[in-house]
Amino acid sequence: MHSDALLRLAEYFAEFPGIGERQSKRFVYFLLSKHPEYLRDLAHSIMDIQKNISRCELCYHFFSGRGEKLCETCTNPATDTTLLMVVEKDADYEAMKKSGMYLGRYFVLGGLVPITSKEAHSRVRIDELVRALKQQAGLKEIILALSLNPHGEHTDTYLREVLSSTTRELGITITSLGRGLSTGTELEYSDTSTLKNAFKNRQ
Ligand SMILES: [Zn+2]
Repeated sequence: MHSDALLRLAEYFAEFPGIGERQSKRFVYFLLSKHPEYLRDLAHSIMDIQKNISRCELCYHFFSGRGEKLCETCTNPATDTTLLMVVEKDADYEAMKKSGMYLGRYFVLGGLVPITSKEAHSRVRIDELVRALKQQAGLKEIILALSLNPHGEHTDTYLREVLSSTTRELGITITSLGRGLSTGTELEYSDTSTLKNAFKNRQ
């Protein structure tokens, strides 16, 4: 940890997804230009997130709610329980949900399996996923909705392998969203029509 207050805060920002060293310093200078009250509010909002946000016990999505066990999608009786969509992270869940074209259940995997990884099990929620699909009565199809990059494709193959005996036993089909997307696509940044297309062309 840095003794210089500016660099210390910049180190925190540099750990954020997609933020480099130069940007992290710009964030600090931005904060220095703000009113003390803004900084106090920001600090409080940061401290509040763990108190007021829960993680769903079924799909592992973070949602606003204090001490609640299940998210809105998992408790909503209108949710189509014949479908389960596996996404890498919460931002992908949000993008898919916002598109409004998918009305089934979700599962947040918590990451991708790197091609070089020998301990895939510790990188993603695979045991939790197997448990989730056994618990979901009436499940007919699992949709793998992972980004179309080498790690995403590797994870797709890995999941198909690991899930194959369970899905065969339960009569569940596995499809992938990838075919409707172009190479390098991040789900999180895809627009609604791209997602719609990918969903329609899943295989
Ligand atoms: Zn949920």
